[in-house]
Amino acid sequence: MASRRLEDLHPDLQPLAHSFLRRCTDAGLDVLIYCTYRSGAEQDQLYAQGRKGNPGPIVTNARAGQSAHNFTIQNRPAARAFDAVPLVGGKPQWDQKHPHWQIMGRIGTELGLNWYGKPTAPFREFPHFELPRGYQ
Ligand SMILES: [Zn+2]
Repeated sequence: MASRRLEDLHPDLQPLAHSFLRRCTDAGLDVLIYCTYRSGAEQDQLYAQGRKGNPGPIVTNARAGQSAHNFTIQNRPAARAFDAVPLVGGKPQWDQKHPHWQIMGRIGTELGLNWYGKPTAPFREFPHFELPRGYQ
């Protein structure tokens, strides 16, 4: 099971994640960060989904060690990305046409995060917010 602990984020991403959640709340959104750190084994399992006859949709192009979720510092989880979903009526709203996705994306972008839901993202992945390059 991948982590959803904010403590497993990169030290520079932790305060941004807290600000993100607070701003979402201020905007009237209920948002769940459902993934922070993912181990190499968990990443490979996710990569296999939807490929070679495995059930489910393809959700990532990254193998173990290639995802910002796999990042470590001195062998400790320090994910450079988190995945978030808006909750509507207490339940995850996965329909990305729901307006809360755009509000959530704008809030993350305003904080300087790289939101993969933006139209110019190389691989669109609406829940994914990543620490931009430039942070060590
Ligand atoms: Zn992600």
